[in-house]
Amino acid sequence: MKVRVQELLAIMQASKNQICELVKKNTNLHEEMSWLYVPKRRKNNICLVAHIDTVWDDERKNLAYDSKNKVIYSKSKITGIGADDRAGVYSLLKIFCELSNEEKPYMLFTDYEEFGGLGAFEAVEKFGDILSDVNFFIELDRQGSREFVTYNGEEANKDFMDFVTSFGLHHARGSFSDIAITGEMLRIAGINVSSGFYFEHTPQEILYPKIVADSINKVMDIIRNSRNKAFRLPVVERNY
Ligand SMILES: [Zn+2]
Repeated sequence: MKVRVQELLAIMQASKNQICELVKKNTNLHEEMSWLYVPKRRKNNICLVAHIDTVWDDERKNLAYDSKNKVIYSKSKITGIGADDRAGVYSLLKIFCELSNEEKPYMLFTDYEEFGGLGAFEAVEKFGDILSDVNFFIELDRQGSREFVTYNGEEANKDFMDFVTSFGLHHARGSFSDIAITGEMLRIAGINVSSGFYFEHTPQEILYPKIVADSINKVMDIIRNSRNKAFRLPVVERNY
């Protein structure tokens, strides 16, 4: 699977309204701040997650591609490229196109991740019954390459960690993302996987299309080899 730089740039440059329209076309359940695709025929119950908002939504983006260093960057000194998380949005749409009908995963797109995950809260409220069937979440909303982050004590689930690391992904530490909310509320394990961007939330933000392609391939590998395993979060014992 290869990433076409022009396609990736188009998704990154699009306005939030344009992305909303695109996401609506590719999902079958729509709410205000969350959109879910529920596959009709399915072999696996993995749910992919990405957020459509970026920290630069109100600013004009000025993106360029450096073909020598094969990297997308911002020509502006005050705005970044919004690869966080348009790289994730692009990846979900690409994975959706690449996989056969019965391989297609659930896909959850959210808005306002950058405002504390408002879209993720709405998704649990509106789609909670459907999402509780999900085997595990994979969000594509992280800097770097071939790393993954967990949020809800997944480290204690050895089967899950062995499964994820068997695909060549390395456990790292990272800050908040949507699956911290969906996972905790639904008690479902999840990973947030690197999507090839660096220096997110700054004007120096850059994105390597080659790493986007690599993450897409990894995630498709996980989907194709998940053998319908479900991973739950460890039970939390509370002493009230
Ligand atoms: Zn993000």
